[in-house]
Amino acid sequence: MATNRTFTMIKPDAFGAGNTGAILKMIQEAGFKIVAMKATKLSADLAGKFYEVHKERPFYNDLVSFMSSGPIVAAILEKDNAVEDFRKLIGATNPAEAAEGTIRNMFAKSIDANAVHGSDSDENAEIEGNFFFSQAERV
Ligand code: GDP
Repeated sequence: MATNRTFTMIKPDAFGAGNTGAILKMIQEAGFKIVAMKATKLSADLAGKFYEVHKERPFYNDLVSFMSSGPIVAAILEKDNAVEDFRKLIGATNPAEAAEGTIRNMFAKSIDANAVHGSDSDENAEIEGNFFFSQAERV
C-alpha cells in the first residue's frame, strides 16, 4: 500500500546558508504537503536521542555535534508513497553520489553536512514526527 507521511529536517548547513526557502520550494513542487513545521535548535542531548540508532557508528559524535551546531527546520510531509518518493527527491547520503537535480546534489556540502534528513521507513517516519510534534501542532 502507498504510504502517506514522512519526516524531514533541513540541517544546520542548509539552514545557515539560507537555503531553507529554496529547499521547501522543491519539496512543495514535488507534490509534498506540509502537515507540520517548525524552526528549532537541537541541544546535543536531543540530537543524541534522535540519532540513538547510530550510537555505535564511528561518526555518531560528529553527527550529534553537527546537528546541534545551529538551527534546523523540522517538518512532517504528506504525499502518496511519501517515504520512498522523498528519499528519491533528496538523493544519496553522500552528495558526491546524489543524482543530478536532487536536493543533496544541489545543496549538500559533504556526507555529514548533507542539507536534509529524510525518514527511511514508515515506522521511523512516525517515530521521528512524534519526536518533534504533538497532535495539536499538525494541520
Ligand atoms: P541518511 O538516511 O541518508 O540520512 O543516512 P544514514 O541514516 O546512513 O546516516 C544518518 C546521517 O549520518 C547522514 O545523513 C549523515 O549526516 C551522517 N553520516 C552518515 N555517514 C557518515 C559518515 O561516514 N561520516 C559522517 N561524519 N557522517 C555521516
